[in-house]
Amino acid sequence: MISAVLPTYNRAPLAFVSGEGSWLTAQDGQRYLDLGAGIAVNVLGHANSALTAALTEQAAKLWHVSNLYRIPEQERLAEALVSKTFADTVFFTNSGTEAAELAIKMARKYHYEMGAAHRTEIIAFDGAFHGRSTGAIAAAGSEKMVKGFGPLMPGFRQLPFGDHTALQAAITDQTCAVIIEPIQGEGGVRTLPDACLKGLRDLCDSTGTLLIFDEVQCGMGRTGKLFAHEWAGVSPDIMMVAKGIGGGFPLGAVLATEDAASGMIAGTHGSTYGGNPLACVVGAKVMEIVADDAFLAEVSRKAAQFRQGLEGLVASHPTVFEAVRGTGLMLGLKCKAANTDVVKAAYGQNLLTVPAADNVLRLLPALNIPQEDITEALARLDRAAVALKG
Ligand SMILES: *Cc1c(COP(=O)(O)O)cnc(C)c1O
Repeated sequence: MISAVLPTYNRAPLAFVSGEGSWLTAQDGQRYLDLGAGIAVNVLGHANSALTAALTEQAAKLWHVSNLYRIPEQERLAEALVSKTFADTVFFTNSGTEAAELAIKMARKYHYEMGAAHRTEIIAFDGAFHGRSTGAIAAAGSEKMVKGFGPLMPGFRQLPFGDHTALQAAITDQTCAVIIEPIQGEGGVRTLPDACLKGLRDLCDSTGTLLIFDEVQCGMGRTGKLFAHEWAGVSPDIMMVAKGIGGGFPLGAVLATEDAASGMIAGTHGSTYGGNPLACVVGAKVMEIVADDAFLAEVSRKAAQFRQGLEGLVASHPTVFEAVRGTGLMLGLKCKAANTDVVKAAYGQNLLTVPAADNVLRLLPALNIPQEDITEALARLDRAAVALKG
């Protein structure tokens, strides 16, 4: 008999009742060290007091009014994002998937309004993940995600990740946009080299193609910059944000330049919940804490410590681990053992990690994880590797 909850997930037999910082307490009272952070969502850990205060204060005042009216909390968060990024304007969603939908619509509408309605093709990359809507699965195009869900939304093609020559050849007068994660998350913590991002920007500029960055996973401070593309010194025309921006409250956003957003006039897009006061006060508090040079420098410092420890683990357990990947606190351990076995062995040490494609173990801790929790996580990973070798 089917479960009351639609069985679309492979869930671990664990249920948590409370959290604090990087720790979660399960129903049976056991404590787990959380290196998944709700898949890069809980950027300030669990039950962060500043976020709880912002949320509960707003909850007592006003939850929701709809976008029929001005929402000052939404305006404040949009202004914070605009002041700290390439963007001139922001639309709020409830998830990364919805951000992908708008990014696609915005890019197509731009060319339509420019008198180039034939420019509808969007180029994406192998290993990409942009969400689960019919548009987002068509963009990523992986067999696993699209099989059985056809006909797919037309107008997407996928190229090998990081193959500049293939990209150069693929851009035609039909091309609308290129959509890419500066660091692939689900695809296995694969970083696009800075030179590739620069080359991509140049190629888009010379062909009038819009560049869309999906920073749903790698953004919001995760790499030690507010957004990962800042490392390469290039910016997109449109950017998708979600996961970390709400610190655990459902919130996403599309950021864009004035030019790229020029087709999105009143009536062209909307959302009932998107950008409601409750979500936006939490997002604004996350921004206030994360978009701060001292906070971001601390992320980089801790990341260097973590990375060094992980390199040591690879050296100690060459039959379990192969290499360290990633930037900042978006880290991956390319495994020799099956990554899902490593995840299970880590459960055995009360340590939560997340598998990714390409046989990678993802480590996405809270950005404010204390140094001693990183040390503890490394010790638990070491014990998990020993247990796995049996
Ligand atoms: C998680 C993710 C999405 C989808 O976000 P949802 O909030 O799950 O809809 C899109 N792109 C990337 C890179 C992601 O990691």
